Amino acid sequence: MADVDTAGRKCLLRVDFNVPFEPGEQTISDDSRIRAALPTISYLIQQGASLIICTHLGRPKGRVVPGMGTEPVRLRLARLLDAEVAPAGGPVGPETAKVVSRLRAGQIAMLENLRFHPGEEANDPAFARELASLADIFVNDAFGAAHRAHASTAGIARRLPAVAGLLMTQELEMLGRILEEPDRPALAVIGGAKVTDKIGVVQNLLDKVDKVLIGGGMSAAFIAAQGMNPGEPRPSRSDVEAAKTLLDAYGSRISLPDDVIVAFAFSAEAEARVAAADQIPNGALILDIGPSAAARYADEIGRARTVLWNGPMGVAEWERFAAGTRTVANAIAAKPSLVSVIGGGSTAEAVAKFDLTEKMTHVSTGGGASLEFLEGKTLPGVAALDERSA
Ligand code: ADP
Ligand code: MG
Repeated sequence: MADVDTAGRKCLLRVDFNVPFEPGEQTISDDSRIRAALPTISYLIQQGASLIICTHLGRPKGRVVPGMGTEPVRLRLARLLDAEVAPAGGPVGPETAKVVSRLRAGQIAMLENLRFHPGEEANDPAFARELASLADIFVNDAFGAAHRAHASTAGIARRLPAVAGLLMTQELEMLGRILEEPDRPALAVIGGAKVTDKIGVVQNLLDKVDKVLIGGGMSAAFIAAQGMNPGEPRPSRSDVEAAKTLLDAYGSRISLPDDVIVAFAFSAEAEARVAAADQIPNGALILDIGPSAAARYADEIGRARTVLWNGPMGVAEWERFAAGTRTVANAIAAKPSLVSVIGGGSTAEAVAKFDLTEKMTHVSTGGGASLEFLEGKTLPGVAALDERSA
């Protein structure tokens, strides 16, 4: 972004303001994605640009859905900036063009939900052209949407000078640091619900970091892969095969929990018991890593210089099954010299719940995007940006 002159120019700024709301309400429950874009917005305003901010919100599937408009995020942004953010409607059309044409240097307008238009997700050239016609420069700060080749992330970048915003740059630098020359020892801690979602990530990370520590629901597939009883639900055959392939290839560079917390019902109130990984009772569900595994993982983190963490160690939303996740979070927080990168929405939520967000080096705003990046995939929204003309 610093490579282009934005003074007096109209900048179309794509952000990811796809924030969570209180169930059934218009009240934003977590505005960290909006806050994360504030440095870029302030910078562009200070440079004397006029800003046309756009985002998607929810899944209206190409139709105007009442209650899914950008009004609540526009108002929150205005409050955080203590500045006026004009509603520009649209996201495209003559009325929007009129509002945008009246913007002066330092003024801000926000478009309606990009996904109200069917052209957005279809990456329709006509829609991309119409969006591009609103501005002189395209700034992409929507890391969380960069794994999608949509009109506002990919199509538009071919029609305007296209640069990365500060958040996008920071995300790519921090996540990129894990994949390229991390300070060693470098660890990845991977948990979450299913192996299928993350097997590619585990595989790619094993080639970049020194060790991968496994927790969460993923543990079951690795336990089954060693011929032990994984309890319920049975991991799929393909997950067990994938876990087995990784264990054969990487051996002790994959750390597995030696004990787990099990319960006999998937419920916050279910009685929690410790079980050795090779003695999981029939019908039991693995809902967290056990105290011995958690202590061992904390120890590994204490010796590391870089940690990437994606996926809670258990059902961290429920207090009885949150101990493993909390132990990992505390171990990271206890070591200020550690470079710690948190990826994944649920992991970020857990860290926030423990009030440790400030202790992390970087908490990614992109769930799916960060996973695809760590898997080694090219993100279309990043690939579409201009190369630095050095
Ligand atoms: P992230 O969003 O950080 O990438 P995931 O979405 O992959 O993480 O996984 C988080 C979800 O996985 C949480 O809702 C958590 O409750 C659930 N989870 C973690 N461990 C288990 C487990 N052992 N059994 C069932 N669900 C689990
Ligand atoms: Mg999640």
